[in-house]
Amino acid sequence: MSNSTLERREFLKLGGAAVVTSVAAGCATAVAAKPPAAPAPVAAALDPPKTAPPAPAALKPEPAKPDPVAAPTGPPTRRLGRTGIEVPLVSMGVMNADNPNLVRAALDGGIVLFDTAHGYQDGRNEEMLGTILPKRPRESFVICTKVYVDTLDRKTGRFGPKTRGEEITQKLDISLKRLGLDHVDILHLHAQSAREGVLHQKLLRALEKAKQDGKTRFLGVSTHKHEPEVLRAAVEGKLYDVVLTAYNFKQDHHLEVQKAMGEAAAAGLGILAMKTQAGVFWDKAKRKPIDMKAALRWALRDPNVHTAIPGFTTFEQLQDDLLVMRDPALSPADSEKLRGPKLAGLFCQGCEECLGSCAYDLPIPDLMRGYMYGHAYKNREAAQSLLAALDLPRAVCGDCDTCPVVCAKGFDVRERIRDIARLRDVPREFLT
Ligand code: SF4
Ligand code: SF4
Repeated sequence: MSNSTLERREFLKLGGAAVVTSVAAGCATAVAAKPPAAPAPVAAALDPPKTAPPAPAALKPEPAKPDPVAAPTGPPTRRLGRTGIEVPLVSMGVMNADNPNLVRAALDGGIVLFDTAHGYQDGRNEEMLGTILPKRPRESFVICTKVYVDTLDRKTGRFGPKTRGEEITQKLDISLKRLGLDHVDILHLHAQSAREGVLHQKLLRALEKAKQDGKTRFLGVSTHKHEPEVLRAAVEGKLYDVVLTAYNFKQDHHLEVQKAMGEAAAAGLGILAMKTQAGVFWDKAKRKPIDMKAALRWALRDPNVHTAIPGFTTFEQLQDDLLVMRDPALSPADSEKLRGPKLAGLFCQGCEECLGSCAYDLPIPDLMRGYMYGHAYKNREAAQSLLAALDLPRAVCGDCDTCPVVCAKGFDVRERIRDIARLRDVPREFLT
């Protein structure tokens, strides 16, 4: 999936070297602040962050910034809620990466937290990390993985009657083996979109047991859809320590997400932000890229986002993300860059305004997310895995003369579904 023109050696020789040196110096402090095994009291988690970014309400002009590369101190960190873990504001979403040297460069550059999942790249994503992480001091990184429970009904966000807690245990054991570790730092219940799913009793018990057995230090839940509901359910469940939520400037409902993140953070939860790149491009043709540094800074201006996990796949992107790690303040120039063209783009915000009008009741938001994986992320395996989980009819969108579905973001839903559905029949070996 990597199409970098800059390889690790060049990355270190060029600007990356300067970023690495200065960031890594500061990150030694951040990692040394590793918490005790037991969660810190909630009151401690509510201490103000070490660096208080501006309030997220307005895009205010800011003074000129110092040269981030030349800055002698380490990057700012925030505390991941009641976990007590101090992390730099930028972490790594490993999902789309397949180059171990990129992960090594990220570690050397001062990135501390790495996010993967049991299902990413059919397990090869965790296996790749397993060639790197066990050789590093255990306290020098934070590893998060996620388990998707197959009985999840993606349309309703509820689990079916055959749901078993053992599925979590079995998948986590496999993940630990792939990673070459005896425990992860955070285990997420993957892809939740409804209160009922977040609070499913059998799954809560299995998650709790994983923690009691020492296979994970903390528990979390991830969400791409109905984020406020999931954030509030995570607070209600009391068992969860963190939430990994979609959050970006293109979400029409970002103020609602922001509010729910504030409530969750106030209750002591750590907040990780994903999908901060908002689909990577302004346009479907992928000719107008979104400014990634500006988009990341936009998410990080919210003090309740404790770290973000951009899914970089090249050394150039890593270099940009390390610059943001050191220099996260959103400038007026950044804000200007985010006032882009009003085009449909590639990010589906999961608002579900398209539901109800489809003749075949298709899971359109998931299909649009698959389209984003396939086209914006160039991760066709992830798109195919998502399609396989959707239980689609054979001739998807093939029987309709016209399509009545209207998307809030202006997607031509039928065209995109027909396009991405072709992946179902492509043998896996042609995708890797
Ligand atoms: S064309 Fe596809 S999305 Fe549109 S109504 Fe038919 S099945 Fe649904
Ligand atoms: S209306 Fe558009 S943006 Fe909203 S969930 Fe449906 S496809 Fe996604």
